[in-house]
Amino acid sequence: SLETGDRLKIAIQKSGRLHDDSMRLLKECGIDVSNGVNKLKSEASNFPLEVYFLRDDDIPQYVEDAVADIGFVGENVVYEKEKAVDVVEKLGFGKCRLSIAVRREEAYDKVASLNGKRIATSYPVLVKKFLDSNNITAEIHEISGSVEIAPGIGLADAICDLVSSGSTLFMNGLKESETILQSQAVLIKSKTLAPAKQLLLNKLLFRIQSVKKARN
Ligand code: ATP
Ligand code: ZN
Repeated sequence: SLETGDRLKIAIQKSGRLHDDSMRLLKECGIDVSNGVNKLKSEASNFPLEVYFLRDDDIPQYVEDAVADIGFVGENVVYEKEKAVDVVEKLGFGKCRLSIAVRREEAYDKVASLNGKRIATSYPVLVKKFLDSNNITAEIHEISGSVEIAPGIGLADAICDLVSSGSTLFMNGLKESETILQSQAVLIKSKTLAPAKQLLLNKLLFRIQSVKKARN
């Protein structure tokens, strides 16, 4: 059997919106990974790959620390966390956008309408960059979940959160007013990948690119 050092270690989301598509992509790359409930890691039977199941928020840190060599994670998380990792390939799933939304009855005109507002978000870094680049001064309130209810309970005037269909915004009486990032799942890699691991990654990337082509 192989030494751990000879296997590429990949971090994927343990459960949630990216999990199934991440497992499916590996499968379509011809890699068989068993997915036991509550397992922390698993080994592929037919490729030198070890899979770690983690919270998506933790994946950039694990890859920066080279605990995992590579990871599948949303661009929204990669750019919010600002870890030292390389984005290698877009994966074509987990598509969403990070948007600012205000109350539906609000007379939102342009981005300057956000001046002096309180914005609730789980993405303080990306929101701050957006506000700064538009010369807007607003208060950012970092909250970790259920951001969309903040305006309704008087905690904020606006929110910045992930949107796909917009139905969650609609149900909470909000309307999308600015898109600050288009996002999808990407493959990230450690900046300190050993040459043998890079060769394995090249092999995996070749397969991923073939799967993507076949899907189009
Ligand atoms: P975890 O328990 O791993 O921290 P989570 O609750 O933070 O999970 P999910 O809701 O499963 O995360 O979303 C994971 C990723 O899926 C997001 O970071 C984003 O990249 C992507 N995504 C795609 N569409 C949406 C959407 N409509 N809302 C939220 N995330 C989406
Ligand atoms: Zn998360």
